[in-house]
Amino acid sequence: MQARFTHRITQLPAPLAAAVAPLLTEHFSGFISQAQLQQLAQQSQMAQDEMLLALLPLAAALANPPISEFYVGAIAIGATGNAYMGANLELNNNALCQTVHAEQSAISHAWLRGEQRIVDLIVNASPCGHCRQFINELVDGEAIRIHLPQQATQPLSYYLPFAFGPKDLNITMPLLSEQQHTLHVESDDELVQLALTQANYSYAPYSGNYSAVVMETHNGQRFAGRYAENAAFNPSMMPLQMALADLLRYNLEAKDISRVVLLESNAGKISLRDATASALASICDVKLEYIQAKPGC
Ligand SMILES: [Zn+2]
Repeated sequence: MQARFTHRITQLPAPLAAAVAPLLTEHFSGFISQAQLQQLAQQSQMAQDEMLLALLPLAAALANPPISEFYVGAIAIGATGNAYMGANLELNNNALCQTVHAEQSAISHAWLRGEQRIVDLIVNASPCGHCRQFINELVDGEAIRIHLPQQATQPLSYYLPFAFGPKDLNITMPLLSEQQHTLHVESDDELVQLALTQANYSYAPYSGNYSAVVMETHNGQRFAGRYAENAAFNPSMMPLQMALADLLRYNLEAKDISRVVLLESNAGKISLRDATASALASICDVKLEYIQAKPGC
């Protein structure tokens, strides 16, 4: 079992801890398939909702909160029934706006694995206003069921009444709906091509800055993050942070990173270049490689 779980697993009911322990190998990155969830529910004799709340200490173990030291864990359940854990991520030596919240981490985890709708979100602390706004950007966001310890389950619309969201800005393909842009770039570099593919899946309806980051580690593993904008702008999730959150879920560290590529459209109204370089400089010494791509026809 990974060391980061050894303390947290003691907070689980004993039958659930025994059932989930075999999953927490060195390869575990916070993903639990629907079939595995069913098996865990059977072995622990728990109803799924109760079990997911009980698993939150494991999600919180994925957190990196050097500033707040407040460990938040979240689990997003997709329409496929699969579970995606996420946790908060804070960057030392940078602005607090570079932070990733646990709910954003879990949702982006689901998005990177191809989920097109989230149906449940389980969190160990009440979602902050920023996260309520981020969740509201998703496909059927207002209907997503929010599960909290010692609280009745309620849809997001209960937590975010009178919401302002993508519909108010005439967006018909909200976050998690299939995006397929047509950026192109001339390069034989595999990392650049991977960043191009991810940027073409990114969500930037407000600025048109379709973009993505791809990181490579010293041992050749690759992690991608896509830009995810928000109708309220500030809760947007940066691609570097999305990729970094994924790398950390795989139990790697910033010092394992050897290359980072940011690719963005040359036709957007904004650029993520400076903010991304700044965030990267606060986590490691790797220099940001920057590529501009052209929109296709
Ligand atoms: Zn939050």
